[in-house]
Amino acid sequence: MSSPTSTPRDARPKTPPSTQNGASQASKPAPKPFPSVTGGCTCNAIRYRLSKPPLFVYACHCPDCQKNTGSAFALFLNIETHCIEIQTPTTPVLVTQPKRPGLVYACYACPECKTELWSANTPLGQVIADVRVGTLDFPGLMEPDVHSFVESKMGWLVLPQGARTVTRDFRFREVWPKSSLRRLDVCLKRAAEAAERTPTAGEFGGEEGEDDEAFERRRIWRN
Ligand SMILES: [Zn+2]
Ligand SMILES: [Zn+2]
Repeated sequence: MSSPTSTPRDARPKTPPSTQNGASQASKPAPKPFPSVTGGCTCNAIRYRLSKPPLFVYACHCPDCQKNTGSAFALFLNIETHCIEIQTPTTPVLVTQPKRPGLVYACYACPECKTELWSANTPLGQVIADVRVGTLDFPGLMEPDVHSFVESKMGWLVLPQGARTVTRDFRFREVWPKSSLRRLDVCLKRAAEAAERTPTAGEFGGEEGEDDEAFERRRIWRN
């Protein structure tokens, strides 16, 4: 784990000690490993690891996020759902709840302590998760790339100088780094290909007594 003062995306793993004659090494440097970022729920029944750096980190100051968290804002990181590796036998359960007309809340939570771990209904669909940054072991590693809905930000909350802000929501294609957009496009393409190949639960029956939700859970966490 790198120093908690740097973000993982900025983390530059130390150069491994040279074991050979460094002077004659003209080959490409080995790819830098992503430092392991881990997290879990309050009761620790669920532990997870992110296998890639986040695509994007954002703080949302909208009234819905304030209500849902009971706090000043919500802090999320986006990552490909398949890059969240569950390390415990207990897996998150999908919790859906209509909050008000037009807003259905869907997230994965610990079945034991009910800690909400990541949202399941991002505008990008199930392939991208909105992980709740506070569930990381070192949430301070993730600084928001953007603050959205700043028009409803708490007046006493002063953002760092230079912080990127938007009123209302942002368009991810305008604010995500290019490398993240490339990862997103790869992910969406794979998901589209998989959808063409994979029969739905209904088509092949699924497992005995399994509803759509259970099928989806099994499909997502099987990797
Ligand atoms: Zn728990
Ligand atoms: Zn929000």
